[in-house]
Amino acid sequence: MAKELFAIFGNPVSHSKSPLMHNLAFNGLSIDSCYTRYLLKDGSNLKDTFLNLGLKGANITVPHKESAFEACDLLDSFAQKIGVVNTIVEKDGKLYGYNTDAPGFLKAISEFKDIKKVLFLGAGGTAQATSSILRDEGYEVTLLNRSQARLERYKSDGFETYTFETFKPQSFDLVINMTSAGLQDENLPAPREILNSVIPNAKACVDVIYGKETPFLKLAKSHNKPTKDGSDMLLYQGIIAFEYFTNRSYTFDEIKPYMKKAFDFN
Ligand code: NDP
Repeated sequence: MAKELFAIFGNPVSHSKSPLMHNLAFNGLSIDSCYTRYLLKDGSNLKDTFLNLGLKGANITVPHKESAFEACDLLDSFAQKIGVVNTIVEKDGKLYGYNTDAPGFLKAISEFKDIKKVLFLGAGGTAQATSSILRDEGYEVTLLNRSQARLERYKSDGFETYTFETFKPQSFDLVINMTSAGLQDENLPAPREILNSVIPNAKACVDVIYGKETPFLKLAKSHNKPTKDGSDMLLYQGIIAFEYFTNRSYTFDEIKPYMKKAFDFN
């Protein structure tokens, strides 16, 4: 069988750990495939680029997850529902789209017990996928975003939504930074007064950003809260994508030791 080629599309994409994670897993499991990265500037070229490169599968990162949704010929029911695709697999010339961020995130927060009420800081694409799966699993998700525009969709989907101006202090079990605040800057995802009102009542605080301690996680630690960054989410979404790529079922424990080694590299 010819060697199968995979890639991650994004802009920027040089920082992505996905090539290392997947190549370590291919190597560890003796699968003769290769995974690379591709700087895609224009999302409308995604499908042509995928086909021209002769890829078997791809992951898609910021800012092309909605374009990836548009590029697919067929979508699984969850990707169809949320309109965001981060994993594509080619079968018989057709592109199949999936979202593995959401189940990856669900698995990543499963260590926190007795969680019901969750506050999302942010309302972008990642929040879109994860809020939907959390609600399906019985969590109550409230969204707090800096501006109104992105909240409209959530509001019409029946979520409780607030901007910084309209937020009413209340108690949440888990507070999660779903924004890019803190990724390349030292910003908090919401005004400090709001965070200082919700963090003390939370059982834990989570950030989807990985690879650094964000100002949000620093603040949570200053309140002596358990914290978790986005590394496990990245790892678990990768493991689920790997199953789609190889069309095989693995236990997480079979792939995790290989993929996890990617986090030893900076
Ligand atoms: P989007 O661009 O879709 O949304 C960005 C969100 O962040 C919006 O709600 C935006 O608010 C808010 N925001 C941006 N900057 C600030 C700021 N300075 N203060 C307050 N709010 C801010 O991004 P994504 O949803 O795709 O990604 C969000 C984060 O998730 C990124 O940091 C990304 O790296 C991370 N991520 C992690 C993954 C993992 O595996 N760990 C997987 C996928 C994403 P507004 O609407 O007002 O603009």
